[in-house]
Amino acid sequence: MSASSPSSAPSAAPDDFRSAAHTTAELVSDYLDALPGRPVWQPTDPAVRQALLDAPLPADGTPLAGLLDVIAAEVLPAPMGNGHPRFFGWVNSAPAPAGVLATLAAAAMNPSSAGGDHADVHLERAVVRWIAELVGFPHPPGGGILTSGTSMATILCLAAARTRAARLAGVDIREQGLTALPPLVTYATAETHSCVRKAVELLGLGSRHLRTVGSDSDGRLDVTALAAVVAEDRAAGLLPFLVVASAGTVGTGAVDAFDPIADLCAAERLWLHVDGAYGAFGVLDPVIAHRYAGMDRADSLALDPHKWLGVPVDCGCALVRDTDELRGTFSLVPSYLRDEAAGALGWFSEYGLEQTRPFRSLKVWATIAHRGRDGLAADIARCTALARRLGELVDAAPDLELLAPVRTSIVAFRLRPAGADEETVNAVNRELPVAVQLRGRVFVTGALFEGREMLRACLLNASATEADLELLLAEVRSAGTALTECRSGT
Ligand SMILES: *Cc1c(COP(=O)(O)O)cnc(C)c1O
Repeated sequence: MSASSPSSAPSAAPDDFRSAAHTTAELVSDYLDALPGRPVWQPTDPAVRQALLDAPLPADGTPLAGLLDVIAAEVLPAPMGNGHPRFFGWVNSAPAPAGVLATLAAAAMNPSSAGGDHADVHLERAVVRWIAELVGFPHPPGGGILTSGTSMATILCLAAARTRAARLAGVDIREQGLTALPPLVTYATAETHSCVRKAVELLGLGSRHLRTVGSDSDGRLDVTALAAVVAEDRAAGLLPFLVVASAGTVGTGAVDAFDPIADLCAAERLWLHVDGAYGAFGVLDPVIAHRYAGMDRADSLALDPHKWLGVPVDCGCALVRDTDELRGTFSLVPSYLRDEAAGALGWFSEYGLEQTRPFRSLKVWATIAHRGRDGLAADIARCTALARRLGELVDAAPDLELLAPVRTSIVAFRLRPAGADEETVNAVNRELPVAVQLRGRVFVTGALFEGREMLRACLLNASATEADLELLLAEVRSAGTALTECRSGT
């Protein structure tokens, strides 16, 4: 029989899937076991980097076992570092083991979670409800969808906000577009994540109509200033429509005071969106839960199970109070996708941008079910306690300076070598993160906060210890001493 005959299925390769799967399980288990004993991060071996970059397109196939050899030799040795308990960079967590296993099963099924009657779509309805329950957000049936992350969730929520604002102004935005409307204005603080500006720009609102509202000494949106600028904009003929508040800013972990903001939004008929990508799950910790009062009054909440919950990337979630507004923004059901069996809620693809959608819900289900609500709450409480402890250690050290109060699990601080002027302090702290990372013992990243270069340590891993925090500060000091000596030429 010729190889091109349609009756000879090419999948009958001489591979033993089962044995390769067992090898994969060993490989992955060995990798995870060995992580804590390895450097947190190291620059990729130049030869490996080159091999990865220059990998030629293979003309012939490689057996599964051969692929595993490459993964073992070239991929697993060069991790980002976020699986390690001493990784405090950005907002990237270690993967929850249950989520790792679920990912394999989900890929084996490989459905499209656009819609239909199969396990993944039903499970997604359930886990979106679980996420809403975890953070105490109202959940009408259909009131949310899993996304690639909060960047995507933000686009969905802001698009729904735009639809409503247009409708209130008598305009069908989907048909008429933006030209029939005065400029729509969004309000946020300088600490708001860049994904909000991206969404504003993408939705055609124009970044010049994204107003930066001032914040108080705690990094929280100043409601009095917000009220004033909304009034000014109305007087100028603009159309204020949206306030973006933060449940954990990425720089310092600040949580906005939601109640007064929600009061203003109700009075002014503004959509209140909360960016909870990093911090929304902090509400599970009874010690800090009070800071989140009023979060449940938002019109929409974007959050990231792939951050504090440790669901393997990618997994964000958009939650909305008014399901019709979200569905009304995205639903376009062509005849070949009409599905009476889908029931009243219809397909997920009517609630967002994606048509073919991955089976994200299984790893969310596994991660939450493995720890349970109480286990997750304990993990999160441990992270905030570690962060507060780190804040105390910084505060007690004469050569370190805390730049913002520790409100969630981010510690914003800088090194202040004795006698150094402000310029030197800034220069040293700017170079510190990479210098610390290269030493391989801890991983921390930096940011510019109110004009000052700083380090920000984000505690997302409940298996970190107090000794790890002390090591972090020791590493910052050692790297800082080297940088300062280097600058002064000693
Ligand atoms: C990570 C983050 C985002 C962006 O979310 P992605 O999942 O990376 O798309 C937005 N806001 C905050 C506060 C974040 O921490």
